[in-house]
Amino acid sequence: MNFAANEQVIQIFYLVASALFILALKWMSSPATAERGVRAGEIGMVLAIGGTLLNHGIVDYKWIAMAVVLGTVIGIPLGLVRMTAVPQRTALSHAFGALCVTLVGIADFYLRTPKVPRFTMAVLSLEVILGALTFTGSLMAAGKLQEILPQRPLTYTGQNVVNLSLLAVAIVLAAYLVVHPSATYLFPLMAGIALVFGVLLVIPIGGADMPTVISLLNSYAGLSAAAMGFVLDSKLLIIAGALDGSSGFILSVIMSKAMNRSFTNILFGAFGKVQVTATDGAQAKPVRSATAEEAAAILAAANTVVVVPGYGMAVAQAQHKVRELYDALTRRGVEVRFAIHPVAGRMPGHMNVLLAEANIPYDRLIEMEDINAEFPQTDVALVVGANDVTNPAARTDPASPIYGMPILDVDKARTVMVIKRSMSPGFAGIDNPLYYLEKTLMLFGDAKSFLNDIVHELTGGRSGVVASGRFASNGQSPRVAATDFERAKLEIGKVI
Ligand code: NAP
Repeated sequence: MNFAANEQVIQIFYLVASALFILALKWMSSPATAERGVRAGEIGMVLAIGGTLLNHGIVDYKWIAMAVVLGTVIGIPLGLVRMTAVPQRTALSHAFGALCVTLVGIADFYLRTPKVPRFTMAVLSLEVILGALTFTGSLMAAGKLQEILPQRPLTYTGQNVVNLSLLAVAIVLAAYLVVHPSATYLFPLMAGIALVFGVLLVIPIGGADMPTVISLLNSYAGLSAAAMGFVLDSKLLIIAGALDGSSGFILSVIMSKAMNRSFTNILFGAFGKVQVTATDGAQAKPVRSATAEEAAAILAAANTVVVVPGYGMAVAQAQHKVRELYDALTRRGVEVRFAIHPVAGRMPGHMNVLLAEANIPYDRLIEMEDINAEFPQTDVALVVGANDVTNPAARTDPASPIYGMPILDVDKARTVMVIKRSMSPGFAGIDNPLYYLEKTLMLFGDAKSFLNDIVHELTGGRSGVVASGRFASNGQSPRVAATDFERAKLEIGKVI
């Protein structure tokens, strides 16, 4: 292929790849089209890499082949981590991407210096500063989430002043280099300060805010890649970087809103300190608990059930048992829906992904804004390993650290059943008044095995209580009228 034809093929590859990246983001915004979105992104990436490999500038493929092998060896195990470890895995991916951008920027600077046009020098500095701080910041975030580093915020007096001063110095150095690109000795200093800044930026932020920080770092990585696109004159990189930068930023905004936190509060507020606050008197107050058999009887007697999944369902990998429960109840004519909180679990869309994996129909998944109005008419809200996202203190207690965070109004349902292993707090480290309500029954145990026992009761059972319809009003159907449901419910639950 001659040079011009080759160049044309490359540009077509890049154009199609850019279009696929845009479509991928659009499709991934809905669970119904998300799989198509992932495929589009994958094909786009193959085309982008393929187009780059056709470049005439490549004189030797040996190093590229070695890099492909190395990337594959690292990438495959990274892709196989458990779902609950995806946030730290994502942070590591950002770190690698940002390191790559930084190294390309450094190489580019030394290849071009001393004659670097001002615009190129400006975007090159932006690329290296953002890339370097994203690299170390993402490593810190991954370390905190994996609990290799302490999750609590590491703070000291004057920290914000030190951090902002460091960033200011890096920007001043960048500005000087724009005017005097021959001052090569300043370039490593600028990159070094950005590396240190990345560490200092993330260590004062608590583990609780890491997922939001990661999506913000994702945004920085995207912007640095877009800057690299300007330096290398690659429209594909500019488009992909801009998409990454803006989507990461939008995601951070959505997550902070769902947690009722502002960006400044996350970046400078050391939120994770909240985690060490005590769960005052949690042990002292009485709660009502029930067995799987009793829980099954109540569920069988209900007309409407809303399942509220949370982080505990992910930990227990209980989504398939949830599906079995859904099937068993639906067969009995119970209407079952799922309440989705935007930050339930440990990453955006965590619950959607798990429930989709268990093949629960999408139209049964109801977003928080829509399901909240339904709770007062709901017979049973079954909470499966969720805690913070159901805490009514967020609505009622101005002194609560999560006051103002939008929550699922589970406490408004006629009966609440909560599957969890103990009275331990959730992510925010605070007590949940939901557990002490008269209408709440605690179902203590691992989500997967407890659900297994409930399903067993509903589908034959050991005692046959549920199957026989002991709580039924007419002796024919276990599904009963509202008053009978109340009676069935009151027969159950021991105070502990
Ligand atoms: P949560 O408040 O962390 O509570 C999870 C509950 O699951 C715990 O109380 C735990 O109680 C229970 N659990 C753990 N393992 C279990 C098992 N094997 N079986 C049964 N229960 C188990 O979770 P959440 O209600 O989903 O709320 C998410 C929290 O994460 C929020 O505070 C949110 O702000 C935060 N967050 C989320 C994101 C995101 O993107 N999704 C990002 C940043 C922060 P036991 O130990 O007693 O069992």
